[in-house]
Amino acid sequence: TDTHTAPAARRLPADLPQRIQHYIGGTLVDSVDGATFDVLDPLTNETYVHAAAGKKADVDAAVVAATEAFENGPWPRLLPRERSRVLHKVADIVESRDARLAELETFDTGLPITQALGQARRAAENFRFFADLIVAQADDTFKVPGRQVNYVNRKPIGVAGLITPWNTPFMLESWKLGPALATGNTVVLKPAEFTPLSASLWAGIFEEAGLPEGVFNLVNGLGEDAGDALVKHPDVPLISFTGESRTGQLIFANAAPYLKGLSMELGGKSAAVVFADADLDAAIDATIFGVFSLNGERCTAGSRILVERSVYDEFVERYAAQARRVVVGDPADPATEVGALVHPEHYAKVMSYVEIGKHEGRLVAGGGRPEGFPHGNYVSPTVFADVKPDARIFQEEIFGPVVAITPFDTDAEALALTNGTRYGLAAYVWTNDLKRAHNFAQSIEAGMVWLNSNNVRDLRTPFGGVKASGLGHEGGYRSIDFYTDQQAVHITL
Ligand code: NAD
Repeated sequence: TDTHTAPAARRLPADLPQRIQHYIGGTLVDSVDGATFDVLDPLTNETYVHAAAGKKADVDAAVVAATEAFENGPWPRLLPRERSRVLHKVADIVESRDARLAELETFDTGLPITQALGQARRAAENFRFFADLIVAQADDTFKVPGRQVNYVNRKPIGVAGLITPWNTPFMLESWKLGPALATGNTVVLKPAEFTPLSASLWAGIFEEAGLPEGVFNLVNGLGEDAGDALVKHPDVPLISFTGESRTGQLIFANAAPYLKGLSMELGGKSAAVVFADADLDAAIDATIFGVFSLNGERCTAGSRILVERSVYDEFVERYAAQARRVVVGDPADPATEVGALVHPEHYAKVMSYVEIGKHEGRLVAGGGRPEGFPHGNYVSPTVFADVKPDARIFQEEIFGPVVAITPFDTDAEALALTNGTRYGLAAYVWTNDLKRAHNFAQSIEAGMVWLNSNNVRDLRTPFGGVKASGLGHEGGYRSIDFYTDQQAVHITL
């Protein structure tokens, strides 16, 4: 449609790195065997940089550096206030470079620049939040009158392995780095291989903020090489993982022989439930944003919309019209609302679901590559109506700008549909009936529910999924708990 802008000539960000390296023990290094992998520009699918392809030997070196920093370095022994100061400095630096970060993230991922900017600011806020939390941290003491005083000695665990996905890379890295470092651990980060560019900035940011050498280490590489070696390393007692449920299952099994601490933020197929009494204007705006923001490459995307029958036809018509107005364009253009998907492999996957959807539902918007975009990983915002609950596009995570709309007649049916997938990450409920809103929300099998609201995060609340969407919750003090041991010390009086 005419709201789609033609892609401008490809402009490369200034000062792109010549190559992307590991960062081990305070030094930028190539892989031991010199291996690299190609990183693609999502607008041209041409290689724009080579990144070091880490294997076991590289992970081993990073774990040695992190172990040395944990056992003999100052970081785990600093006062919380001292660590907090460093983390606030990290936040200041990230904030001051938000435009550059957004530029690089947009270039590497294809995310719309205005949304990438929001993610950069959220990364700074993640550091600030845990910097504050660690100073306010209080632990329990218990008194048995006349007999004992018992207290909790909270301590960092050691080397934390952090494995992250490509959808909002820098922000998701910060969500793990913030609490892992605030609590005094040292880390080895393995970022996603589709998008290693923004992660390469951490080394400079941490050096400038005064983080001691060896506390932060970065190993790039493929999941089955570098990620796998980190998961199977005997000296890495913790793995915090965000990615696909299938990968999570594999990591769970691979970590089992070592009985590692695991935190898993996995996939989703979250429902937005719209009752007839809802504010339809607000519900439409929010559910459009809920699945098309971040190119639909969002774990908490509201990728199924369930609509009460009496407003169903009106909703579908208005929703489809609004989806057609979503502006697809060059990710670097501030007017763009949906950019290019991250990688040709992911593009092929999303496009295959678009084709499947044409047999499973009624196509009312989009349905393939937008006109005027012959190259790059562009997908029109795509809407299928009348989707049955056994359809693959209802059950499986697509992770792109594709949404399934399904009618319902009763609250009970809406609940069964909401809970009728293997996932349980998020849900969104739209109704003006107060009692129904709370009763319905509390019956949903999902880690997070938003009532009459978009996905707005309060960093103190639990974040995470149930069922196939995750294991354990982070957010607020839960993150502090994951990255620390709480040792009980008992004293007889
Ligand atoms: P992915 O599982 O393919 O990869 C995630 C990370 O795991 C990458 O760094 C990858 O290299 C690594 N990896 C792959 N195989 C591995 C192995 N065998 N051992 C160790 N590491 C391995 O996921 P993705 O495609 O990068 O990300 C998209 C997925 O992430 C979606 O399912 C999305 O819902 C999910 N996600 C979840 C959340 C959340 O908070 N719940 C947030 C963002 C993304």
